[in-house]
Amino acid sequence: MYYNSIIETIGNTPLVKLNKVTDGIKGTVLAKVEYFNPGNSVKDRMAIKMIEDAEKAGILSKGGTIIEGTSGNTGMGLALAATAKGYKCIFTMADKQSKEKMDILRAVGAEVVVCPTNVTPDDPRSYYSVARKLNAEIPNSFYPNQYDNLSNTAAHYETTGPEIWEQTEGKITHYACGVGTGGTMCGTAKFLKEQNPNVKTVGIDTYGSVFKKYKETGVFDENEIYPYLTEGIGEDILPKNVDFSLIDEFVKVTDKDAALMARRLSKEEGLFVGWSCGSAVHGALEYARKNLKEGDVMVIILPDHGTRYLGKIYNDSWMKDHGFVETRQYATARDIVA
Ligand code: PMP
Repeated sequence: MYYNSIIETIGNTPLVKLNKVTDGIKGTVLAKVEYFNPGNSVKDRMAIKMIEDAEKAGILSKGGTIIEGTSGNTGMGLALAATAKGYKCIFTMADKQSKEKMDILRAVGAEVVVCPTNVTPDDPRSYYSVARKLNAEIPNSFYPNQYDNLSNTAAHYETTGPEIWEQTEGKITHYACGVGTGGTMCGTAKFLKEQNPNVKTVGIDTYGSVFKKYKETGVFDENEIYPYLTEGIGEDILPKNVDFSLIDEFVKVTDKDAALMARRLSKEEGLFVGWSCGSAVHGALEYARKNLKEGDVMVIILPDHGTRYLGKIYNDSWMKDHGFVETRQYATARDIVA
């Protein structure tokens, strides 16, 4: 038995019960572990869908070049699908992104253009502007624009939603998911609510992002926007893939709580996951403590793998420098010998 290409291995990720971090919570809490995708993240699902929809629409054809502004996971998904299908990839990235992320994308054959972080989105040097310029200049190039491209939501409506419905045999009562572009949350929520309108959906947001306030008041409040560290969730824009009518409630999670929960998932559950997985679980469990009843089944999406954060939340010195832990956990020989 074999797959015809790496693309066929995307999706059908496992659901794993959380046993330790859920202490004191009623009901069953299951994690959908998306690092089992070949690019190690949930974004493989929408990357292949954006490419295949563009092929069908005739906006991407043989010998084409895919150009996207990315912070990592979408780029990885696009790169592996593009490699398998014979397209070139050029990614524009802000220079605040880790070197590891740039190296990974180059390792899978993409060209990476590094752009300054501290410029506004409409500055010609920003990674958004450079991507648009390259798209305008390079013949037969395709700019997926994951924020507003609805193939993103459709990918999760067609795969993530049905998988969760089948894996829980229709018993899911609560769905929790971090919101960045909104594709994972809203595509999955749409499918689940069509099967059972009583499924409650909980969007996980960060401090420094506009989503929660916008859902609760309908106001796009610029005071909600300030720098934060968690990668992949929260926004300072309203992407077209966020359909607020499909998200019943938002919970905000701090960078620190997210980092500490990701570390607990690694050490206590054996799930070596990314930073936003900590946000999703911390926020979902805060909601679950107040709302879950005996017999309820909550599913939480864990978007990516811990390796991408080794230099940050899994590095004790980094954690200490950011005030997230008091002391280093690991001894060096000098601590023991001296
Ligand atoms: N977590 C991580 C690590 C991500 O890369 C993303 C993608 N931005 C998300 C969560 C959120 O997923 P979505 O874009 O589908 O809202």
